[in-house]
Amino acid sequence: MFYNDKWQLFSVSFNRYLSIRITRFRKAYLTGQHQETMNYNHLFSKIYDELGKTDDSGEVASYIPELKNINPNKFGVHLTTLDGGHYSFGDSDEKFSIQSIAKVLALVLAYQLENENLWDRVGVEPSGTPFNSLVQLEYDKGIPRNPLINAGALIISDILVSHFDEPKKQFIEFVRKVSGLPEMDYSTRIANSEKSAGYTNAALVNLMKSFGNIRNDVDEVLDFYFNLCSIEMTCKELSRTFLFLADYGVCPFKNEPIISTSKSKRINAIMQLCGFYDEAGEFSFKVGLPGKSGVGGGIIAIHPDKYSIAVWSPRLNKKGNSIRGMKFLELFTSETQASIF
Ligand code: GLN
Repeated sequence: MFYNDKWQLFSVSFNRYLSIRITRFRKAYLTGQHQETMNYNHLFSKIYDELGKTDDSGEVASYIPELKNINPNKFGVHLTTLDGGHYSFGDSDEKFSIQSIAKVLALVLAYQLENENLWDRVGVEPSGTPFNSLVQLEYDKGIPRNPLINAGALIISDILVSHFDEPKKQFIEFVRKVSGLPEMDYSTRIANSEKSAGYTNAALVNLMKSFGNIRNDVDEVLDFYFNLCSIEMTCKELSRTFLFLADYGVCPFKNEPIISTSKSKRINAIMQLCGFYDEAGEFSFKVGLPGKSGVGGGIIAIHPDKYSIAVWSPRLNKKGNSIRGMKFLELFTSETQASIF
């Protein structure tokens, strides 16, 4: 189906949303099942105790100077269910740098603007290489494997810079809308810190420019990208912001469509296959949910039709993913016996 105006997209999306809601309600009514029966708070502390027995010998990200200052022992989790449940544990109300998790929000906006043309400039295949790999990009002639590795997110940044008169302002307004949090903003401190040491990202964007896949000035694209990655949220805010991906693209607390049902499913598919770089298979295998990590130690994971869960623990493994965050989610989906598979 071809949507030629925004209103048509929203009304088709909304009708689909209503029919999904009705089906869900009937299913729950017929089977007598309700999500609220689970005592998540008790489960969180049980899993946290279990985590204490596992290895957390990783390091906080140090290639971005500001991230070195974070207390590595922080730990927070927040789960938001579609039926309005909120469950927290630990440092869930403390802001942290969401870093690459923000790439998903930029992708959502670019996909909405470009539709399927987006895929002429970036792929949808797992990379199997580190998030900032240059080797693969040269091999692929400047077309990044997917939008969640750095090269791919730089292409998405270039697209947003082309689309908007005031790209940073218009992007943060989108994040405010999706999160329902009008005070949400970039951290100039973190963006400047990353800029001061962002040589690899500069190399990636220049390489893609040489292949003709960057349309704007490289410094403008990098500035947008560093600001994108600098956004700070608490686990609670992060989980709330991403809830629309558990609800077929509709922001549940506003009943407002953010993206079409089909696109929402595709974004989840990309997270499932690419959200953890060369550890995406491991996350899929052990956790079984679409998700995205960031080098600030955060992870967001989505259970379509049920919930979104954000975990934060700053020590990272060699692949740049939070060690205790991944382990927590593995134990969580094992205990609840609910994953997408
Ligand atoms: N801003 C970071 C970078 O570009 C994001 C990396 C990440 O979170 N994986 O290196």
